[in-house]
Amino acid sequence: MTQKINKIVLASGNAGKVREINKLFAGCGIEVVPQSDFNVPEVPETGTTFVENAIIKARHAARLTGLPAISDDSGIEVDALDARPGVYSARYAGEGASDLDNNNKMLEELQGIPEAERTARYWCLLVFMRHHNDPVPIITQASWEGRILEAPLGDGGFGYDPIFYVPTHNCASGELSMEEKNKISHRALALQAMLEEFKKHNFID
Ligand code: IMP
Repeated sequence: MTQKINKIVLASGNAGKVREINKLFAGCGIEVVPQSDFNVPEVPETGTTFVENAIIKARHAARLTGLPAISDDSGIEVDALDARPGVYSARYAGEGASDLDNNNKMLEELQGIPEAERTARYWCLLVFMRHHNDPVPIITQASWEGRILEAPLGDGGFGYDPIFYVPTHNCASGELSMEEKNKISHRALALQAMLEEFKKHNFID
């Protein structure tokens, strides 16, 4: 018989992600506790793909807490930068870089590049592991298409949201409310797919 899941550790210390993921899981009867509540330290993200990094983080959190774990590895790829910064999005402007540092570096690198060539997309890759030795992690992924603006707009979201233009809404993702972002973002779509998987596996009703 499949065990129902009612508590999951979230293998992330990123406050923006923690907020969005909690909001998205609210209502399905699962308590999502950030790993910081268990004093789980960050683990080096040594993978070169989102999926490798997500597995590293979920396994680490599950091992240290004894709880099922979910991790999110995400980032942005910019076509004019040959898909950079990708898995290095959080540290694009260097180790310990702030969101502002990263945004400024991207605007600088893209200076003079015309609008049509500023296409970009966010990726979100989610991994769920029932325990740290789980041989069949559940993996879902989704992307969100947009363009890099020439100057920041709005103060919502986190990371690259002030410079990520969302053509479907004619604004920056930093100008969307959390409710709006949570309907259409890469993370929202990957989480919806994850909830479907949870239902298929009978982890939730
Ligand atoms: P990591 O998954 O913690 O390695 O870092 C992902 C990085 O990608 C974040 O620190 C942000 O810079 C960027 N990123 C991922 N998702 C979003 C998003 O929804 N909005 C803005 N930036 C994001």
